[in-house]
Amino acid sequence: MTKRRHNANSAAREASGSNDQSASRSEADENNASASSSAASDSPSTPAGSASKRHVTPKSHPTETELAPAPPHPVQRASAFSVAQEQLNRVAKAMDLDDDLRAHLSMPRRELIVHFPVEMDDGSLRNFTGFRVHHNTALGPTKGGIRYHPDVSLDESRALAMWMTWKCALMNLPYGGAKGGVIVNPKELSERELQAMTRRYTSEISLFIGPEMDIPAPDVGTDARVMAWVMDTYSMNRGYSVPAVTTGKPLAVGGSAGREYATGLGITYVTRAMLRRRMGLHIEDATVAIQGFGNVGSWAARAMHERGAKVVAVSDVNGAVYDERGLDPRHLKSFAEETGSVVGYPRADSLTNEELLELKVDVLIPAALEGQITRENADKINARVIAEGANGPTTPEADRILEDKGVLIIPDILCNAGGVVVSYFEWVQDLQAFSWDESEIRLQMKRKLLDNLDDVLAITLQTGQDLRTAAYTIAIQRIVDAVKYRGIYP
Ligand code: NAD
Repeated sequence: MTKRRHNANSAAREASGSNDQSASRSEADENNASASSSAASDSPSTPAGSASKRHVTPKSHPTETELAPAPPHPVQRASAFSVAQEQLNRVAKAMDLDDDLRAHLSMPRRELIVHFPVEMDDGSLRNFTGFRVHHNTALGPTKGGIRYHPDVSLDESRALAMWMTWKCALMNLPYGGAKGGVIVNPKELSERELQAMTRRYTSEISLFIGPEMDIPAPDVGTDARVMAWVMDTYSMNRGYSVPAVTTGKPLAVGGSAGREYATGLGITYVTRAMLRRRMGLHIEDATVAIQGFGNVGSWAARAMHERGAKVVAVSDVNGAVYDERGLDPRHLKSFAEETGSVVGYPRADSLTNEELLELKVDVLIPAALEGQITRENADKINARVIAEGANGPTTPEADRILEDKGVLIIPDILCNAGGVVVSYFEWVQDLQAFSWDESEIRLQMKRKLLDNLDDVLAITLQTGQDLRTAAYTIAIQRIVDAVKYRGIYP
């Protein structure tokens, strides 16, 4: 990498600136692929996102100016953004990247914090805080999920936006990274409240989104239904339908075939190829444990199972279940949908989430939240391979401990990129008003994932680097090239 000097001030200026589709398919088919806007709250002592009990009669809604501002939500976990910056710094050093450029890439381009009220079913007002962060726009508009979770924060959105930048660049997609969300447990809201909150949040961030600017997608706590509300709200304010403003929508409103299971299926394609190429292990002989049984975890479980792997344990926020003979992911999903959790599944033993992470399996798939494998528990991991389904599940300290133990880590920006790849296909289809069939989507997704996997493996062979460093090097180099050709404005 050639060092490139440019003006630090200008860089700093710029820096501130169910469809029950099946994840299964015949192997023959698969093998065709080449291997702060501020509103207000009514009580300063009410934490942002918590219910306010002030009653209003249905006919006299208070204006926003009658409501006091919500206090910021405290960051409770270790800073995900510090982790993301540390990962960047480490790779930038290995690349001998110019320090001004590293500093430019280490901060988001734009950040928006919004506080807004929503009327609850009982007539009270509840105040929410939300975020939208654009990390980098050198390659195109930004792309990234919307998360509804009590721990959403600016710090977390910054980290997730940065990781999206690297993921899109690694996949050679014409996007930068974004992320956002609302501090809320969506399960506490009624359907009407969830819709009202989504529509108001969308209005608040509408300055920041659009098919040519930033295209949100589902993430933790959001789904196709939420994406349809975001799309509809944005469209209503434009006066015409704009399906390309979000991805991960239902098929009926411009969604793409294959998007729902894309992340889980992509994890399976990438993991299967890595097992074979790096360990000489066939997926049919592999045992798998999965942390998280939402969109990513449940579809990864099913795709792994359908290709012959034995999924021995899965968990959700309430706990884990284990069966050494292998679980049936479809049956388990029906059970979890009926009861609200995998816990209590009659055909399995119970485990804690900690115990699941420590199981002796071939493949551990963290598919819940970031920061799950840390220096506290890395030494207790007994898996041979960690396939990162979640974004940022492993901290840099844990990376080092696991590397010393000989654990192969398939980094998130490669492993879980199937979702954003099919989101890209959805965006292209919406822009062209032309839809592709499911087999085409799967073929193109597989090709993109495996071509980029080849590039990552080639770097590891040339340099002896681990997979994360190699993947980051490719991604950062693509962005550096774009910045170089575009130049620093003005
Ligand atoms: P989701 O809301 O559908 O599911 C999250 C799952 O994790 C749930 O089963 C929940 O109970 C579980 N969970 C939460 N906290 C937990 C904990 N402490 N221990 C164990 N389980 C816990 O979310 P999702 O869309 O499946 O996303 C999961 C992860 O994958 C996130 O890191 C997300 O950023 C990442 N990701 C999602 C996509 C996508 O297409 N949805 C794409 C790429 C990456």
